[in-house]
Amino acid sequence: MTLNPEEIYKLIPDSNETDRQLIAKALKFATKAHQGQKRFSGEPYIIHPFEVAKILADLKADPEMIAAGLLHDTLEDTPTAKEELQREFGDKILFLIEGVTKLGRLKYQGLERHVESLRKFFIAMAEDIRVVMIKLADRLHNIRTLEYVREDKQYRIALETLEIYAPIANRLGIWKMKGMLEDGSFPYVYPEDYAQVTKLRKTKGKETIKRLEKIYRNLRKELSKYDLADVQIDYRIKYLYSLYKKLKNNDMDIDRIYDISAIRVIVDDIQQCYQVLGIIHAMWKPVPDRLRDYIATPKPNGYKSIHTAVFTGDGIVEIQIRTKQMHTEAEYGIASHVAYEESGKNTKTGGSLSRKTRWIGNLLEAQKNINDSTEFLNTIKNDFFKDHIFVFTPKGDVIELPIDSSVLDFAYEIHSDIGNHAHGGIINDKFVSLDTKLQNNDIVEIETREKSHPSPRWAKYVKTDNAKRHIRLYFQQQGYHLGRLGFLKKLNILKKK
Ligand code: MN
Repeated sequence: MTLNPEEIYKLIPDSNETDRQLIAKALKFATKAHQGQKRFSGEPYIIHPFEVAKILADLKADPEMIAAGLLHDTLEDTPTAKEELQREFGDKILFLIEGVTKLGRLKYQGLERHVESLRKFFIAMAEDIRVVMIKLADRLHNIRTLEYVREDKQYRIALETLEIYAPIANRLGIWKMKGMLEDGSFPYVYPEDYAQVTKLRKTKGKETIKRLEKIYRNLRKELSKYDLADVQIDYRIKYLYSLYKKLKNNDMDIDRIYDISAIRVIVDDIQQCYQVLGIIHAMWKPVPDRLRDYIATPKPNGYKSIHTAVFTGDGIVEIQIRTKQMHTEAEYGIASHVAYEESGKNTKTGGSLSRKTRWIGNLLEAQKNINDSTEFLNTIKNDFFKDHIFVFTPKGDVIELPIDSSVLDFAYEIHSDIGNHAHGGIINDKFVSLDTKLQNNDIVEIETREKSHPSPRWAKYVKTDNAKRHIRLYFQQQGYHLGRLGFLKKLNILKKK
């Protein structure tokens, strides 16, 4: 079987000759290594790594990742030796392949398996986020070909995808990947709900698309009058699984879901965003209270866009306006930063990736000493999957914290000594107490006093596992008898004996 690397090239129009040679070489190598092997579907095995590479290319991955995607199963499933991969493709690509291979091997069952798998993901993320992205692409193709897998395995794989893989993609801001993983798993986990939602969307979808096309033509015509003839306009229908979650909160009544579809206008710069907003509101009457300016005030997860909803004569439509860069970030999340920084095309945001992944290292550090599976899962749910805010040190360093974090959480995030001696905080030049909750974009400074130290009250002030752990440690070091720490136990800070 000979597959054409052109299919990958056309997804990465920016690539150069060297990139293409690397990809062609990896494809040739993998084809030979998997020679004679078949997938459950009966297709030649090489189709799988080839499709994984295409998913990665579509996510704007760099050439090394695409090559590693092509080679990702050679170590585990073929007689290929590590040394051979190293000789042919170098240390970096070998590292990615080994990382993906390690992520795939799981020993345990049930809850233990769940936890083991999450732990492995965190370790991989802290080392090189690209390993995780390749693994997500691998899982996406496996989900898309799940119909050929034994039935009892289908459910387990799909459920694991909904519970672990999709939330990780979401947390990394790779929304496109999250949507595709969820929609692929949905029918295997909730078959009846899937059938119902598909039917609902199909009926509603047809009339929706007709309306969207009309709006599209009118908008295109109007914008061309303003020197905005070549802005990009497209429309999207909500992903099935996210529509399902919304329907569940609305008595399964599709007429109550206003954002089942949306028009998206993608422009060059921020000024044009507001110009387009003005033009749209002059064309159609805006729905009161539906305007959201996430450019001036980004969502806690960093999402930027302007959202509005307008009456178009035959109903309401949601319109999203954003720049090209905002669009790339919204679709590809952390992936877009990896691609930029690896290729050195975006020197302006230098360091933004390390800033954006710093929390992963912190999180891993905090998880190191937790051996109890239930406790591990609880802290992960709290510290990882909840929405986060970004606040700044006076020097402009970004600190990421879970929503509702306090000044004291911030202090412990900077350093345990600063936490243990915190006296108060200064937010945007105003003095505040340690229990003050932080808001997105606050600039925070901590006042310390030599004499200040943790008091039992502090347990109520903090949200992060990191701060809780240090407060507990402090009291233990002070020789507090565990029996006297009832106040901490109640707050779930102490491990259950
Ligand atoms: Mn694979």
